[in-house]
Amino acid sequence: MQVPAPFEYERAVSVDEAIALLARHGPEARLVAGGHSLLPMMKLRLARPETLIDINGLADLDYIRTEGDEIAIGAMTRHAGVLDSAVLAEHYRIFAEAERVIADPIVRNRGTVGGSLCQADPSEDLSAVFAALRGTAVIRSASGSRNVDLRQFHTGPYETAVGAAEMLVEVRLPIRPNCGSAYEKVERRAGDWSIAAAGAFVQLDGEGRIADLGIGLTAVGAEHFTCEEAEDALRGEAPAEEAISRAAAICAERCQPQADQRGPVDYKRHLVGVLVARALARAAARARGEAA
Ligand SMILES: Cc1cc2nc3c(=O)[nH]c(=O)nc-3n(C[C@H](O)[C@H](O)[C@H](O)COP(=O)(O)OP(=O)(O)OC[C@H]3O[C@@H](n4cnc5c(N)ncnc54)[C@H](O)[C@@H]3O)c2cc1C
Repeated sequence: MQVPAPFEYERAVSVDEAIALLARHGPEARLVAGGHSLLPMMKLRLARPETLIDINGLADLDYIRTEGDEIAIGAMTRHAGVLDSAVLAEHYRIFAEAERVIADPIVRNRGTVGGSLCQADPSEDLSAVFAALRGTAVIRSASGSRNVDLRQFHTGPYETAVGAAEMLVEVRLPIRPNCGSAYEKVERRAGDWSIAAAGAFVQLDGEGRIADLGIGLTAVGAEHFTCEEAEDALRGEAPAEEAISRAAAICAERCQPQADQRGPVDYKRHLVGVLVARALARAAARARGEAA
């Protein structure tokens, strides 16, 4: 049986206390949210924190609500809360489509939005969703809050913009009128990590052209989980099949998948092209108010 190395355990009852505990215990302390990424890594001895700071008591960070023209999502919101959210179902169907294929109900009942983003696993589904939607991560420290563009949040595999004695407390997304979104994932079996996945939003102007869009990619080595060159190629165009295919081909060409037990590079590139095109087409149809 795999067991973690010994560690101290602290339980925070407020964000301020969690941050103070991080400062007190230094760089070898780690927050634990759902524990679905950190604890397996500790059992494998890939992570050996000296102190775990449990933030599961921070129920005030478990919310999804509209605030003016934005949606605010607390860092301790569980995957299951994202899946069930009426606010997200109304504005961004991409979330429910992604959540339905993240692991299983046991993981989704415990794993959190903050943990998913901060784990920064290159195959994380929510990282692709947030990269597609572009928004803001709110990071707190003892000296206050700072905002980081979600596309700058991941600084590399398993690395984020969250510094020592800081924690992610919230994610904020703009509400976009005339907008549709969708998520497409291919996995080896139900509940597995992606072989490749793509998400998109499309916002249409009064003439039915693409006023704005976002593309998110995971598990395929896309820088910052996106492909801005493909987005630039499609912005201002009508969402016709040919234009969408061109943008999807750019994604397939620019991503840098690795060959592994989930498949060879060419197969993953092919999937990217197909999945981006499907996600964009369904997002555009939803923006037009069609069933898709
Ligand atoms: C069997 C299994 C299958 C899975 N399949 C998928 C899948 O298909 N797709 C997918 O996307 N994910 C999958 N996951 C991962 C799952 O989504 C995890 O819940 C998620 O990666 C981490 O969330 P957590 O709350 O459990 O984080 P934790 O494990 O508690 O923490 C992860 C990291 O984030 C840090 N952290 C947590 N919260 C904060 C915060 N607020 N501020 C700063 N740092 C923080 C921790 O210190 C730690 O370093 C799977 C997990 C399992 C166990």
